[in-house]
Amino acid sequence: MEIDAWLRGGGLVVTASDRAARALTIAFHRARRAECLTAWPAPNIQDWKTFVRAAWEDRTRENPDARLILNPTQEQAIWADIAGAHNHLATLLEGPRHRLAAMGMEAHELLCSHAPRYLRPQTRSAWQQDAAAFSTWLAAFDETCLSSNLLSPARLPLELISLLESDSTLRPPLLLAGFDRILPVQRALFDAWGTWYQADLAEPATHIHFYESPDAKSELAACAIWASCQLAANTNARLLVVTQDATTRRGEIERAFLQINPGPTSSQLFEFSLGIPLSQVALPKAAHLLIRWLTGPIAEHELDWLLSTSYAASPQESSALQAVMRAIRRRNQQQAQWTLRDFLAAIPHPSESDESNPILAQWTARIAEAQSKLADLARRPQSPLEWAEQPPRFLESLHFATSTPLSSAEFQALRRWHQVVETCGSLGFDGRRIAWPDFLSILARTLDATLFAPESRDAPIQIAGPAESAGLTADAIWCLGATEDAWPANGSTHPLLPPEVQREAAMPHATPQLDWELAHSITTRLLASAPEVHFSYPRQSEAVEARPSRLIVQLAGRPQSLPPEFIAAPVPSPLTIPFEDSSRISYPPGKVPGGAAVLTSQSQCPFKAFATTRLDAQTWEPAEAGLTPMQRGNLLHEVLHSIWSGPPYGIHSHNDLLHIGDKKSFVLNHVQQVLQEQIRPALRERMPRRYLELEGQRLTRLVTEWLEYESTRVAFEVLETEAARTETIAGLTLKLRLDRIDRLSDGTVLVVDYKTGLVSPKSWDLPRPEDVQLPLYAGFALDREKEPLGGLVFAKIRPGDQCFTGRVFDPATTLFPGLKNISALAKNPLTAEDLMDWRDAIEQLAKDFLAGHAEVDPREYPKTCERCGLQSLCRIQEHRIALADEDEESEASDE
Ligand code: SF4
Repeated sequence: MEIDAWLRGGGLVVTASDRAARALTIAFHRARRAECLTAWPAPNIQDWKTFVRAAWEDRTRENPDARLILNPTQEQAIWADIAGAHNHLATLLEGPRHRLAAMGMEAHELLCSHAPRYLRPQTRSAWQQDAAAFSTWLAAFDETCLSSNLLSPARLPLELISLLESDSTLRPPLLLAGFDRILPVQRALFDAWGTWYQADLAEPATHIHFYESPDAKSELAACAIWASCQLAANTNARLLVVTQDATTRRGEIERAFLQINPGPTSSQLFEFSLGIPLSQVALPKAAHLLIRWLTGPIAEHELDWLLSTSYAASPQESSALQAVMRAIRRRNQQQAQWTLRDFLAAIPHPSESDESNPILAQWTARIAEAQSKLADLARRPQSPLEWAEQPPRFLESLHFATSTPLSSAEFQALRRWHQVVETCGSLGFDGRRIAWPDFLSILARTLDATLFAPESRDAPIQIAGPAESAGLTADAIWCLGATEDAWPANGSTHPLLPPEVQREAAMPHATPQLDWELAHSITTRLLASAPEVHFSYPRQSEAVEARPSRLIVQLAGRPQSLPPEFIAAPVPSPLTIPFEDSSRISYPPGKVPGGAAVLTSQSQCPFKAFATTRLDAQTWEPAEAGLTPMQRGNLLHEVLHSIWSGPPYGIHSHNDLLHIGDKKSFVLNHVQQVLQEQIRPALRERMPRRYLELEGQRLTRLVTEWLEYESTRVAFEVLETEAARTETIAGLTLKLRLDRIDRLSDGTVLVVDYKTGLVSPKSWDLPRPEDVQLPLYAGFALDREKEPLGGLVFAKIRPGDQCFTGRVFDPATTLFPGLKNISALAKNPLTAEDLMDWRDAIEQLAKDFLAGHAEVDPREYPKTCERCGLQSLCRIQEHRIALADEDEESEASDE
């Protein structure tokens, strides 16, 4: 009321932060609307920085100060130059140099605001080690500012104090709001100004509660339920949620509030007062990626994301570009980093019949032209001002973000992006010229350092950190995370300033007493910001026992258990409505792609077989800097195929194997041949030669060990490797490829499948085998007359774990002489019944697939789903929640 009356009387209010100024402005307008006014004068509210700048400019208007006031990017660049010039090891790399520069700026600001007497070099002569290094940097900074006519904004209040002290004009009184702590420089400036008051705190809350919850999740859920109840009771209620770690917990907090208040407008119920880095906001992120991509590589996941947005291309172009990415993956040509040149080369040539090409031709022409123009420009260093003109120009030529109308938040983000680019251009203040990649680094850093929050929609729930909540008032407040460690917030002293100086000047975190006093004043202010205030803390935080804040206990009493109405139901309501779909669309008998994997999928989960075979759904293996696990597995198969392919270069029997004198050299020849043939030139170019050499050595060692192991077998002969078969099972025609078929000593055949992962014959167990590949080969791919089955085995070829594992009729006679009875192969021999049972089960799986059985029914949840990758399509999570609900209901009715 005091602030409102002051503003209505035309008085000036100075706030501690721009957030507090915005909050007071919104509250002022809301109050006028509540009075049914249609027009009223704008309130005179200025945040501290704006107030200082405006007052300084007023006093230098008649006698202008020629110095340039630095912006943060310019000031950091000067500190980075100074830190780099001192040749400290930590400043050789760009990243650490700029981190040190940011710390130098912070230390300078702390001196300006808390202990300006240390700005005089003589007072710092006794500083040692890191503080001494900082002192030298500060002297260099002062010298640069003096010689180049520059002024740091941190010095403005000090300069203003002098101007005010020499100016006897009567100045209007000030009312201060949202200052949890008045810094020494602020107090000195307000005193020099004249009359000032601090706004009185309102009456403390009448309802104060302190709760304890089992963990942070239930604490957050309780807060979201509380907010929902408050809004249900009063739709005009204004709520404030205060949390120490609003930035790191942002996603978690959003989910909790959306879950409790589901609905299309739920996201409009709350807003965070603290923004997120502009580099994480979709539109500026896309603009930055696109500009980077014109001259350098971007990661494959960044490219996937960029092409899926509506910013980099029109919707039609975007879907055609995503089709190109899918085709690249189907051709197994994914790569960890993509240059624009590589990507354009991967787009099918217009002569190849592809309906996406006419759409892509225009996009390709646009981006190729932009690439070539920028490559031309990037040959010479330019001033940052000149570089800053390029991103808007190129984005315009690429029709960036023009295909769909922008929302208000997107429009604001675009405006902020342009401001950031201009700020980077302002680095030309000292006439420096830089290369294009350096300009891109500055742009990336500035985007990271710039926080963005769309203009407030005045949402009913405001979420803020304790310090950011200054100036905010509400009908009720909930403060999360009031543990002993977090309330008062702990922090450390500044590493570049001597601890005794920090203690003497009462700088933040210099003593526990200072932290306590600040937390006390924040808490007192919060208690006066609403008639009802709730505090809560989790008993367990990140698996560690937590204690309640002593400060909150002093003010609100011992914590109580959460009231039952704030405790979330154990199982959240399902996001989907269960619907029993009993319809089935049968599959026409005949060929089906995918080989034995179709029936393996049908057994693991019918929906998986349906989605992969009939909808062509696939999960992608992420590209890696080296070879992917699949590529390594394929190379191993090729090497073994080459070795067992028979004369002139290979061998085809146990006897041949025993007569190889130097197995390692023999294997090495095959490995080199395979690496030469199988690794595409484009792939080879991306990998260091040494990496491929090491991969060759690894393969040689692995296969040599395997051949040593096979040397101990009973005599055998390899009949076929990579044996192709086409078999029809219950009307379903499958193309199969068997890794290897051996003739054993008793005339029977052994089906061998090479594996580099963890495998076990248990995966063939009925009634729902996890894998049917080998039972299917054994039951359907062999000519029973000519090729009577002796067994089926996985050849496990893993470093340190090389063995056969599987089922063999008579392993001691046909596989390994003197095989011990305790070995798994001897304990579980193959039987004719096994074969018959597998045949029946596999035929049934084929019939189910043809009949259109596509139920979401994993054989072992969640294990089967963990490596499936189709969760977003089958929505298994929601399905399980619905099933859990049903189980609970039926258990309740049983009782
Ligand atoms: S994620 Fe699980 S339920 Fe979904 S398709 Fe895969 S195996 Fe089936």
